[in-house]
Amino acid sequence: MEKINSLTGMLDLISSKSEKSELANKIFLTEKYLKNIFQNYGMSEIRTPALEDTNLFKRSVGDASDIVNKELYSFNDKNDKNIVLRPEGTAGVIRAIIQKKIDLEAHKFWYMGPMWRYERPQKGRYRQFYQAGVEILGHHEGLPEFEMISLVCSINQYLQIEKPLVKINHLGDNKIKELYCEDLVKYLSPLKSKLDEKDQNRLKKNPLRILDSKSETTQNILKDAPKINNYISNSSKALLDEIIKTFSSECSIQIDSSLVRGLDYYTGFVFEAVSDDLGAQNAYLGGGRYDNLCSQLGGKNLPAIGMAIGLERLSTLVNAEEASNKLLSFIILSEKINPKAYKIAHDLRLLNENVKIDIQLSEGSLKSKLRRASKDNADYALILGDQELESETVIVKSLKESNSEQKSMTIDELNGFIPTIS
Ligand code: AMP
Repeated sequence: MEKINSLTGMLDLISSKSEKSELANKIFLTEKYLKNIFQNYGMSEIRTPALEDTNLFKRSVGDASDIVNKELYSFNDKNDKNIVLRPEGTAGVIRAIIQKKIDLEAHKFWYMGPMWRYERPQKGRYRQFYQAGVEILGHHEGLPEFEMISLVCSINQYLQIEKPLVKINHLGDNKIKELYCEDLVKYLSPLKSKLDEKDQNRLKKNPLRILDSKSETTQNILKDAPKINNYISNSSKALLDEIIKTFSSECSIQIDSSLVRGLDYYTGFVFEAVSDDLGAQNAYLGGGRYDNLCSQLGGKNLPAIGMAIGLERLSTLVNAEEASNKLLSFIILSEKINPKAYKIAHDLRLLNENVKIDIQLSEGSLKSKLRRASKDNADYALILGDQELESETVIVKSLKESNSEQKSMTIDELNGFIPTIS
């Protein structure tokens, strides 16, 4: 029969000890670290549905963005309503707080989950990918910007990221953004035919995006273009300088006046973290201020700043390792199914949450089960056969110390031993 494969650009993440699972293992580890960091920053979790009304993204991310224009996974449901698999997390969070009528309160949220964009798959770019994100809501420009960059530095430090660089910029308020765009279009219009084709299309729809064009010709033309830093206020410039002064001892950080970010809703402070080790798709997180989004979606005037982290890209840069909890391989050698042996293992699991107890469920000889325990890198094998069950003892064999004697322990002795393992 013909096999059914996963859809293009959608990965199966299968955790195991084999090298093929390296990305999956790293993503799961990264998720654990990130949850811890978010909680250490006093943030609360928010989970919104994967499916949303398509209008949500048209009205937030914007018709002119690539995400909405070309990449939406949208379709009609059985009731002929146009719905979409979310391409990003922020719009859903804001929709949720407006719906719950908590859009005037301050919040610090984190989320994690899959996103979908119909992009051309390549290294570091998938059609289903995972993002973790943070939204700080209800505070004007100032301290939240420091909180965001502090969080980015902590992520780089805790996860021991390879060659990170944090880029920051300021896009001014709406008026400044508009004025700057007008001048940029005035400068670029006479040169339109020389621009890369993709950038020619952006000139009308989304001129700011031309600044982060990947085309060398466009970048050469941009060298003499007006610069956003000549338009923003002194207080915006001072904010960028203060952030650099505060965090440059923590991680490498610099102003990049061509940084604009792809989504329409950003105004004010924007940032991105990149690493040379990622190749062409070198950004592993990005974010910025989006003070108008809540009112644009029918809610109150809620100032906000947020960021999204791409887990596939971030995890390939992680050097931090899994906390090494000790592993006990529990070997039952009874001919028949033995609930009493299982109950002993069950009770042991409650004695030390930092110890992993893996009951070998497959049948086999003691030799093959011990081989399996060593292959799994277990620290101890606990062996329970009919004779041990009779005498209410368990054999404890250390697998890491060479020439160590195996010991027979009573259940009471074992109950005393397990909590001492660390
Ligand atoms: P964005 O939501 O476009 O601001 O992206 C935030 C982060 O998500 C990026 O820095 C990437 O790390 C990640 N990302 C965005 N699109 C993709 C994709 N198609 N595949 C994998 N990661 C992605």
